[in-house]
Amino acid sequence: MSTNKPIYVTQPYLPPLEEFHDYLRQIWDNKILTNGGPFHQQLEAALCDYLGVEHLALFSNGTIALVTALQAQRITGEVITTPYSFVATAHSLQWNGIKPVFVDIDPITLNLDPAKIEAAITPQTTAIMPVHCYGRPCDVAAIQRIADNYNLKIIYDAAHAFGVRDEGGSVLRHGDLSVLSFHATKVFNTFEGGAIICPDAKTKQRIDHLKNFGFVDEVTVVAAGINGKMSEINAAFGLLQLQYLGQAIARRKEIDAAYRSRLAQVRGIRCLGDGAETAANYSYFPILVGPDYQLVRDELYQLLRDQEIYARRYFFPLITEFPMYRGLPSARSDNLPVAWNAARSVLCLPIYPGLDDADIERVTQLIIQAGASRCEA
Ligand SMILES: *Cc1c(COP(=O)(O)O)cnc(C)c1O
Repeated sequence: MSTNKPIYVTQPYLPPLEEFHDYLRQIWDNKILTNGGPFHQQLEAALCDYLGVEHLALFSNGTIALVTALQAQRITGEVITTPYSFVATAHSLQWNGIKPVFVDIDPITLNLDPAKIEAAITPQTTAIMPVHCYGRPCDVAAIQRIADNYNLKIIYDAAHAFGVRDEGGSVLRHGDLSVLSFHATKVFNTFEGGAIICPDAKTKQRIDHLKNFGFVDEVTVVAAGINGKMSEINAAFGLLQLQYLGQAIARRKEIDAAYRSRLAQVRGIRCLGDGAETAANYSYFPILVGPDYQLVRDELYQLLRDQEIYARRYFFPLITEFPMYRGLPSARSDNLPVAWNAARSVLCLPIYPGLDDADIERVTQLIIQAGASRCEA
């Protein structure tokens, strides 16, 4: 048995506890616990600033934010989306009575393949819901061209893309709306939380109504809204954590580089991306275990588990393999060969600010040794 400590795929980043006491004291003093209180307002402003966007509405979690984003845009009928994501992407459609239409992904980026979107458009199609998978931007220009041609909305599930930028600025500015998740496992977390990035003040106002039961004032309800508000305690934690985010992401970047250089020579292992991205967030470290590697993906997954290294098979199974989706015509595996293959070859390695150099060495040595000889492994 190994005497090493277990290594999980991620661990939440926690700022110094003493500093959180100051925030708690303020909440105890002013007795405002929720409903758009001072920390909620401060966090919205601070995130706009950090992300480089103009309007943002905080939510209690990313899934309610996705559900609300679809309501805000009055999306109905069919929506084109990716099977290669966390289930909440498709669930948010289902909760709105919208039919998901699954389209295959690109083998290099693992994002929705724009070349396959047009063939899936029907008279019922009203929108596209792509995911910036692992925080790597979709082909936003190609998706926008298709949306313009067919008069479709675009709602980005940007749950992985906190702080990611491209040449023009924040990647969150693309499409009609983008949705973030601040779940404990994400790069920036508020325990639970999320946000919608809005293009203008009017859209934000509508979304603010929708997340508060549809209330506009004490006596006016304009929509069958939901309770999606973020509490003051979550907002306060976000404000504090934001101060430490730069150093947390800097450490993630070092880990990303260390993995890339150690795994570069391993036959049959491909690291996603080239490590040259200028404004990535290093939220995940996915490797693809190819046919040239000595073990299949699930054998490597198990070998690491036996050493208490809990790498994760994000995203396996595909969304389209779950019972509530698998009967749809677009969910058939022959419609999604690239996604099907990705779900069976990707392994996300541990990456979080507290992972030290010895941990990286342990993880990579096991992968290297198992790749060199099956018997030695
Ligand atoms: C985490 C995640 C969500 C859901 O966010 P929650 O805040 O956990 O509700 C949605 N989509 C993707 C791609 C995610 O990774």
